[in-house]
Amino acid sequence: MAQVRESDAAKQRVQHFINGKVVDGGERSFPVYNPATGESNCEVSLADAATTRRAIEAARDALPGWQRVTPLNRARIMFRFKTLIEERADDIARLITSEHGKVFEDARGELTRGLEVVEFACGIPHLLKGEHSLNVGTNVDSHSMMQPVGVCAGITPFNFPAMVPMWMFPVAIACGNTFVLKPSEKDPSVPLYMAELLKEAGLPDGVFNVVNGDKVSVDALLTDPDVAAVSFVGSTPIAEYIYSTGCAHGKRVQALGGAKNHLVAMPDADLDQTVDALMGAAYGSAGERCMAISVAVAVGDEVADALIQRLKPKVENLRIGDGLAEKGLEMGPLVTREHLEKVSGYIGLGIEEGAEAVVDGRKRAFPDTEGYFIGGTLFDRVTTDMRIYKEEIFGPVLAVVRVPDYETAVKIINEHEFGNGVAIFTRDGDAARQFSQDIQVGMVGVNVPIPVPMAFHSFGGWKRSLFGPLHMHGPDGVRFYTKMKTVTSRWPTGVRSGSEFVMPTMK
Ligand code: NAD
Repeated sequence: MAQVRESDAAKQRVQHFINGKVVDGGERSFPVYNPATGESNCEVSLADAATTRRAIEAARDALPGWQRVTPLNRARIMFRFKTLIEERADDIARLITSEHGKVFEDARGELTRGLEVVEFACGIPHLLKGEHSLNVGTNVDSHSMMQPVGVCAGITPFNFPAMVPMWMFPVAIACGNTFVLKPSEKDPSVPLYMAELLKEAGLPDGVFNVVNGDKVSVDALLTDPDVAAVSFVGSTPIAEYIYSTGCAHGKRVQALGGAKNHLVAMPDADLDQTVDALMGAAYGSAGERCMAISVAVAVGDEVADALIQRLKPKVENLRIGDGLAEKGLEMGPLVTREHLEKVSGYIGLGIEEGAEAVVDGRKRAFPDTEGYFIGGTLFDRVTTDMRIYKEEIFGPVLAVVRVPDYETAVKIINEHEFGNGVAIFTRDGDAARQFSQDIQVGMVGVNVPIPVPMAFHSFGGWKRSLFGPLHMHGPDGVRFYTKMKTVTSRWPTGVRSGSEFVMPTMK
């Protein structure tokens, strides 16, 4: 692998990847920490508008050549990229853990979910076949072709530094577009590694570029006339800003936002299965997942009491530590000190609001480290007027809400601002079927706690969890990254009949 971090006097510096080369650009920089130790041994360079423009120009100039490469040959590059990722999976996972903090096995899992989108993109010749109708009128045929939209930009969050960029660029470039990725400044190394691997796989220079940065580079992408499409994943206020600004500048935009995902435990649910599901979905990756379950909706006090009783010892005894130093861990640290303070603040707020802190993660001691660790928190008797219920905490905090019946469970979920993921745990097929239809949420799990659709389906929430009509990857991904053109043709026999002066209707 080529160097993605160039030596600086004291610290390594994570740069940009433009037109096939690692380049510097931008006076400003931002420290990147290892969340498990609190140490920073590298800085990420923050691109200025001119550096961002260089990346856009590289993508614009590479576009005509890349569009001419046949879908089959684009797919062959994707196949080579897939093999390289598989070969370097441990290196990539270690890089994820060292900057994000999630435990190593979880980092491998994230990479696998991203790899599945590369596998999907390997099938691009089939996905771009378009449509054809013979004889839409007498001796008139129609066919639709799917053409690339142009230069696409991706802006991604810290919580999946490999997977979320991989929701976007494999499909975009396989469709014949070129791409500029602006990853999170908190864990920027993995996307640069991906750029190196794509080059090694044979991707021509300029087709995939990475600019590291913050709002300055994001705004440059959103307003540049050479950018045709923007994909965003991050928090809801920024998603809304990206959507409105990008659309105002004539781009197609898909902007995925925040979440508050509920798991409904019905009275007939298998409680052991439900508890295991809640533990993994609420505390895995320290709750820093857009599909994390942060609310357990217990239908009936009996279910609530049983859940609390089973969850309490498990939450108290979560195996937490440095994912690079230990195996078999369940949870790592939070991503930054600021985020640790924010999550701690929410726990204090929950107690002030009157929720019952069955386990208070702030009380768990981590004496031998400066890392951003916190224990798991479990709240009981959370009500829907509390801020800890309404707002996304994005940490290892599970709120139990008690409701009397199924109808109330559905009502509170449907009234929530977010609609990303949801799950129901039950043995009753009829209840599950009704729930799947009634619930105002984009991704639904039936006895599955984190219902992230596979790469050949599309990923996206409802309500303020997604701005724009199209979800990510799968069929929607192909639609987002292509423009449909429909050709209607008639050959000489039709012309023989002479000119027609009335509005054409098919005969
Ligand atoms: P964030 O919104 O702070 O940042 C996301 C991206 O936007 C980053 O690249 C960042 O540099 C950029 N950004 C931040 N502030 C900006 C501004 N003012 N103007 C322009 N760009 C800006 O999100 P985050 O903290 O990195 O990630 C966590 C959030 O992402 C959570 O809300 C989580 O739910 C959400 N998320 C959603 C999904 C989903 O599929 N819906 C998936 C993953 C994460």
